[in-house]
Amino acid sequence: AKPKVIVVGGGFGGATCAKYLKRFDDKLDVTLIEPKESYMTCPGSNWYLAGLVEKEYITHDYRKLQDKHGVAVIHDKVTDINARKQTVTLSDGSELSYDRLVVSPGIDFRFDAIEGYSADVIEQIPHAYQAGPQTDILYRQIREMKQGGTFIMSAPANPFRCPPGPYERVSMIADYFKKHNPTAKIIVLDAKSKFSKQGLFMEGWQELYGSMIEWFGEHDGGAVTKVEADSKTVHCDLDTFTADVLNIIPPQQAGKIAFDAGLVDESGWCPVNQETFESMIHRGIHVIGDAAIAGKMPKSGHSAASQAKMCAAAIVSQMHNWAMPRPKNVNTCYSLVGADYGISVAAVYHMQDGKIVGIEGAGGVSPHGATLQFRKMEATYANGWYKNITADIWD
Ligand code: FAD
Repeated sequence: AKPKVIVVGGGFGGATCAKYLKRFDDKLDVTLIEPKESYMTCPGSNWYLAGLVEKEYITHDYRKLQDKHGVAVIHDKVTDINARKQTVTLSDGSELSYDRLVVSPGIDFRFDAIEGYSADVIEQIPHAYQAGPQTDILYRQIREMKQGGTFIMSAPANPFRCPPGPYERVSMIADYFKKHNPTAKIIVLDAKSKFSKQGLFMEGWQELYGSMIEWFGEHDGGAVTKVEADSKTVHCDLDTFTADVLNIIPPQQAGKIAFDAGLVDESGWCPVNQETFESMIHRGIHVIGDAAIAGKMPKSGHSAASQAKMCAAAIVSQMHNWAMPRPKNVNTCYSLVGADYGISVAAVYHMQDGKIVGIEGAGGVSPHGATLQFRKMEATYANGWYKNITADIWD
């Protein structure tokens, strides 16, 4: 019989892995299990909030993975993984067996980390940190906010999904406010004292939005400790603030199924062999993407897709007794500070003493003080990046 690989989760990690497993060995029997029939990407979701792209642009389905690339796609949720029996259980109770399992469930939220915050309040104060209905709520709230109102976002401590994501978000909301609500204010309350591409973001905020965006870090007492959802009030050491629109991005951990399957350690993330992404806890199960502890790689869609290809190569090599490829991973994160104002960070990684580390001199960030022409070019590249990576995964 053909060796069977099951992939759990059809996001950046899982969908890439399923496609590349078939690409590396089309005789494999590859099944992708993902509840959603259409997947809205978090990358680009901030652009959608600003009204720069349509929802369709950031929404993808699994038809081509199935019809063109030979991946069997099941739209269901995995409710249990039995590492000993090598089976997964679906929500209807049916069981599927595997020879190898890849798990890419993304993130879950630590709902108990901030007093007053819970899953019950996310319709009122959306996180919009898993794209979909939550993104739509925030999209509407921004448009319904009164003139001159206050938008407050709280950003979590490290590690979390997409280190520049919160700051691109307030940039994109400022882009919208500048056109439609020019006296609005944006306050960022942060559980960190510094953030990704901080100098570049702040330079862009100043250049494009004057004093519209105010940022308070952990060292200012900006870490949010308590939330009152009804009045949209947030408490931190610095002060108590009341918002018209409140966007709490809570602390995070690996997706729930990773906990249920016993794949996480005390950090709340999944330890893996960083060369093959095989779990350090359960043999035969690989964990990739945001849920995995992947050395110096940030939790990003680009990282997840890069890890997915390495993981697929490792699985196929092991099955054929081929020499393991020496892994090189890549990450690029573009952020739009304004519609025509892009910045980026990029890195290439290799293995050192069993850990993924950056290669010195490879990658870097956009220059400070660049011309608007340069920033515009990077905004064009950001769109090119999006089209390429999503085509590589879903087309
Ligand atoms: P996901 O893409 O979240 O996929 C996980 C999938 O698993 C989901 O579809 C879910 O339905 C499924 N799943 C979960 N549990 C189960 C189960 N039990 N059974 C079956 N399926 C299950 N990254 C970039 O590289 N560039 C960017 O510009 C960028 N911008 C971002 C902006 C924002 C606002 C945010 C929030 C994130 C951004 N990211 C960006 C990060 C990126 O979205 C994530 O890092 C990426 O999605 C991680 O991929 P993943 O496969 O680990 O998880």
